Amino acid sequence: MLSSKASCLCGNVKITAGKINPKFTVCHCESCRSWGGGPFFAVQCGTDVAIEGHENIKSYESSAWASRGFCSNCGTHLYYKLKNSGEYNMPVGIFPNLKGLEMSMQYFCDQRPDYYCFSNETKEMTRAEIMEYFAKHI
Ligand SMILES: [Zn+2]
Ligand SMILES: [Zn+2]
Repeated sequence: MLSSKASCLCGNVKITAGKINPKFTVCHCESCRSWGGGPFFAVQCGTDVAIEGHENIKSYESSAWASRGFCSNCGTHLYYKLKNSGEYNMPVGIFPNLKGLEMSMQYFCDQRPDYYCFSNETKEMTRAEIMEYFAKHI
């Protein structure tokens, strides 16, 4: 597990995540691609997350189970947060100093459009597999 600091573009929001899993996931779902214009590269940060400048964050409830936060000044995407567990998934690119990162999973591979693909070898889950998995584990 890695510890790291992140900041939005304008610096109004600063984040310290204490336990980042270096095996990150890429999500191809339609919500993620609409949100960011492309797939979402996300590191799992758990709940050990300290945020400075909370008042600058706007949070959007993107589904019944999660919200997406961004800086209201510069628009930097900051997190996808699960409501029940309080766990954060954060964009890998906002952490400049992470080491040993490995793309290990691609979510919603069946929603991945045909205009890109990664050469990384990763595990993949379809929408149906994800729904089945989370029905059992949450
Ligand atoms: Zn900002
Ligand atoms: Zn997604």
